Amino acid sequence: MRGVESTSLTLGIETSCDETSVAVVEGGRKVLSNIIHSQVDLHQEFGGVVPELAARDHLERLPGLLDMALQKADVKPADLDLVAVTRGPGLVGCLLVGVGVGEGLAAAWSKPLTGVNHLWGHIYAAMLTRPDLEPPLLGLVVSGAHSDLVRMPEHGRFGVIGRTRDDAAGEAFDKAARMLGLGFPGGPALDHIARTGDPNRRPLPKPSLPGLEYSFSGLKTALLYRLRGMGESVTDQDRADLAAAFERSVVESLLEKLDLALEQQPVREVVVAGGVAANTLLRQRAAEIVAGRARLTMPPLELCTDNAAMIAAAAHFTSPSLPRPPWKVAGVAQRPRPDGGARPIAVDPSLGWEP
Ligand code: ADP
Ligand code: MG
Repeated sequence: MRGVESTSLTLGIETSCDETSVAVVEGGRKVLSNIIHSQVDLHQEFGGVVPELAARDHLERLPGLLDMALQKADVKPADLDLVAVTRGPGLVGCLLVGVGVGEGLAAAWSKPLTGVNHLWGHIYAAMLTRPDLEPPLLGLVVSGAHSDLVRMPEHGRFGVIGRTRDDAAGEAFDKAARMLGLGFPGGPALDHIARTGDPNRRPLPKPSLPGLEYSFSGLKTALLYRLRGMGESVTDQDRADLAAAFERSVVESLLEKLDLALEQQPVREVVVAGGVAANTLLRQRAAEIVAGRARLTMPPLELCTDNAAMIAAAAHFTSPSLPRPPWKVAGVAQRPRPDGGARPIAVDPSLGWEP
């Protein structure tokens, strides 16, 4: 399933949640540009992502980001071989903006267009990190909405072997941070104060489900009760200690299952990716746990959180050869419909690991 040449240029567009991003990637491996606009400031006062505001902001920002991405990569639209856009999972209004813009550009430039699974993108961020990385691999994708253990036998094939029963790791970090009064987005803030805390001073239980399943809601409740029990007397040091204890419980739980999966079916390559893979302790401990058994790849921070370069990389390695243009802008002529459906790209807000 390798639809395009190793020197081909892919334009990636990512708008699934609260990052707007446009990237140009060469040969699925080399990032020529990866422009990311975070909407953190926009959503801060609401303490979480407001879908309607997010979608509108994507629409306003995309044209400017597109110009920047092409300019930085020193690429003209005519040079591009493929336009790739996230089709799910994510917020439906946000996805529709990205897909709509992608469709418009592909039509205007007469370029093939492909829809990309955002979760695949997180794994493909690792291909941008290590030029020689190839499947088969074992992946742990930890983000705001997912904590998934997957096996990837070859490009474009993923099998889920473990997931969370309730909250995702990132969601748990965000909620814990809110309880600790750290604001939004919580994960990075919790990481920051945990560095000055002692996880042993106010330890929290480590979630432990059988097999490869995760659960973080009990841990969240444990933190809530602990804080309630402490009443008004919580100091900054207490907060740092609790953040460190919470972080340790989440990280050790994530890695306990990764360890088990690696033991059950050894592989040479392990990838840990997604927004939570930016966490300091997770990066440290993952390296220790995988050491000597497999090679670990964790993308650098800017490729862990949502970005369009990973979408372009995933498209490069997995997009089937699509019908070539010419396309006409909607309404003027019928566009080719690779999937036989009404639109060339099916937006799916609740997409799992399937193509
Ligand atoms: P999604 O794809 O679900 O939108 P991302 O892949 O962008 O999520 O990851 C965002 C999540 O990562 C948020 O829940 C955020 O709190 C978490 N996160 C980011 N940095 C850190 C960190 N240093 N420590 C822990 N969690 C983090
Ligand atoms: Mg993500």
